[in-house]
Amino acid sequence: MYHSTRNKDEKVSFSEAVIRGLAPDGGLYVPETIPKIDIKDLHARSWDYKAIAKFILGLYLDDFTEEQVSTCVERAYTGKFNTDEICPVNKVGERFYLELFHGPTLAFKDVALSILPEFMAVSAKNLGLKENILILTATSGDTGKAALEGFKNRRKVKIVVYYPVDGVSPTQKLQMVTQGGCNVHVYGIDGNFDSAQSAVKRVFRNKEFNQEMHKRGYILSSANSINIGRLLPQIVYYFYGYCQIVRSGGINLGDEINICVPTGNFGNILAAYYARIMGLPIKTLVCASNKNKVLTDFFKSGIYNKNRRFYSTSSPSMDILLSSNLERLIYHASGEDLNVVNDYIRCLSEKGIYEAPLSLLANIDEFSAEYTNEAQTRLAISNLYKKFNYVLDTHTAVAEHAYDKYIEKTMDSAPTIIVSTASPFKFPGSVLSALGKDLPKSEGKTPLDALKELSYISGRELPKSILKLYKLPIIFDDVISSDDLEEFLLKLEMLND
Ligand SMILES: *Cc1c(COP(=O)(O)O)cnc(C)c1O
Repeated sequence: MYHSTRNKDEKVSFSEAVIRGLAPDGGLYVPETIPKIDIKDLHARSWDYKAIAKFILGLYLDDFTEEQVSTCVERAYTGKFNTDEICPVNKVGERFYLELFHGPTLAFKDVALSILPEFMAVSAKNLGLKENILILTATSGDTGKAALEGFKNRRKVKIVVYYPVDGVSPTQKLQMVTQGGCNVHVYGIDGNFDSAQSAVKRVFRNKEFNQEMHKRGYILSSANSINIGRLLPQIVYYFYGYCQIVRSGGINLGDEINICVPTGNFGNILAAYYARIMGLPIKTLVCASNKNKVLTDFFKSGIYNKNRRFYSTSSPSMDILLSSNLERLIYHASGEDLNVVNDYIRCLSEKGIYEAPLSLLANIDEFSAEYTNEAQTRLAISNLYKKFNYVLDTHTAVAEHAYDKYIEKTMDSAPTIIVSTASPFKFPGSVLSALGKDLPKSEGKTPLDALKELSYISGRELPKSILKLYKLPIIFDDVISSDDLEEFLLKLEMLND
């Protein structure tokens, strides 16, 4: 079963944890126990992605039947990804790139957000839920689109997405403001991702607003990685990727690997941490940040200080100063000590700064952290392209360079997975510019020309979903203040019928 990171007494089923999103006390749901897997057994079964997903999710979805788990997986991963492998591994030079961007919106968020709507539908049924679900989601760029695609036109669900109006890439923005579907709405928010995220958390805690929505037949839920239903599907690809590398002869079964993850809200790397506890032979988890390096400083110094300048970078999905999922790490690594968690919450909310006790730091030494600035991000893209003709997106490039730094300091020679979180087609301007191939605007070149150029350079087919974008009408152009979320929701037509 599941309970909050801030209170162990109230236990809920997986269904309830998924529907609620955030625990009533503001904490994040965590599993009571993390199951173990024998990697040798798992590998011996030679399962494909879906079979591994059914097995791993089956261990966590306590109140789902085997058939329910299986149906969720089949629906989520059939026909939506451009490869049956779902998350293929590409060996380039000495490193393995776990490509998580083959889904409908070209970022790793698709892996979890393709299945979260299935979880919600089954959970609502299991709980006999009468109400409709209203999903509120703050996005740093990629969650929004992936959630909109996952939830559009679903019965008994409405979804509202909030994105920082100047904090996402042009393609990310276009993906969201052109979104179709009868149950979706998108708002731009004045401010950065952190203010959008804390505004959404405020709405969740607003009792009066919740009661009003309840009267209208809605309960609130979240598609952010604070929802445990987002986290668990991400564990699957670490096991799958490892087994694929063994199968291709890249490593021997049982060998330890390092995993380097470009990190923002700390969800993806936390899933790798869970995989490690479950028995995946991971040596070091390298947490890669961009110029917003609050996590790098935390792992190096033990001090989390969010009182600092916020930078808008070319890897916008990682422009975050308050990483929600760190609360889950602190819960587990402190030995499930609620005093430590509550101290962390209090210090951050009162002073914006937290100093971890030594006992906690000793328990997170499987993490290492490095950061990458803008110039280094560009260099990482052009270097890998020059050497191997392999084109990285800006987020993956942050991980690539952070890992270079890690090796320089540690001389660690363990085999390595670099987690590739987005397709270069999602950030064509930054990627082409890093390759020295920006198209001169003066010659009347369009965004479509840039995408075609990138397709030619990378040798990858131009994804149809991107091509389509430029023909769609803009539907959502409202920009609102993060103080006014409730006011606009109450007026929203789709919530009034
Ligand atoms: C969301 C995102 C990240 C950060 O992932 P977290 O789970 O928030 O740490 C990194 N890269 C891309 C492309 C993303 O969309």
